[in-house]
Amino acid sequence: MPGLDDNQLLRYSRQILLPQIGVEGQEKLLRSTALIVGVGGLGSPASMYLAASGVGRLILADDDVVDLSNLQRQIVHASGAVGEAKTDSATARLAALNPEVAVTAISERMNAETLRPLAARCDVVLDCSDNFETRYALNRACREARVPLVSGAAIRMEGQISVFAPSQPQSPCYQCLYPEGAAQDEGCVTTGILSPLTGVIGSLQAIEAVKLLLGIGSALIGRLLLFDAMKMQWREVALRKNPQCPVCGQAAGGLSDDTSS
Ligand SMILES: [Zn+2]
Repeated sequence: MPGLDDNQLLRYSRQILLPQIGVEGQEKLLRSTALIVGVGGLGSPASMYLAASGVGRLILADDDVVDLSNLQRQIVHASGAVGEAKTDSATARLAALNPEVAVTAISERMNAETLRPLAARCDVVLDCSDNFETRYALNRACREARVPLVSGAAIRMEGQISVFAPSQPQSPCYQCLYPEGAAQDEGCVTTGILSPLTGVIGSLQAIEAVKLLLGIGSALIGRLLLFDAMKMQWREVALRKNPQCPVCGQAAGGLSDDTSS
């Protein structure tokens, strides 16, 4: 790939100015691929920031259609997009934001079989979904493809984010945090959600994704960050790998804490 042209140098100039990124980092972002599963409250800001940052290829997966009740927080979708596939609506918005980014839209419900080859094509994956079935499938797919997963969630006035890195033996996975069967779906359809909260968590997911793509800073690996909007408080909880985890534990062929510490 040839170097950045004048327009690119200008478009990304404020990022290139950062010593942690520079021209080299920007070129790296342009060569990178990110998968965003769920183009709703979290996927909206996450996809927009990754597109604006110049992540070269974005794959969007969502089987849902834009509903009027989505617009309060799913800011990638405009009022005129009600009734359209979310992936189509988001693709058009991202193309307008940054035509340099190649967007692939997948308007299907994802499962472990369909996610595995997709994850393997990516450098980073963002879980912006709203149900445990997809979250577990995505966790397994990322584990098998050894691709880092940036997991975010938001409901009511609370949000959380963590990063799971299968290439790091000490890293827990999503299922270490929420064992399958123990967690129940609680959607914002019934409980409600504060609009800008999804912006906060989705934007943090984009930050972690960019850092992982560039290999800079300290990622949220083994750390769960919890946000309480009512109290305007952040809390960090250390996450440990569960040696009995069926996805990343000993039985699954993962390294236990004993052997790696
Ligand atoms: Zn695990």
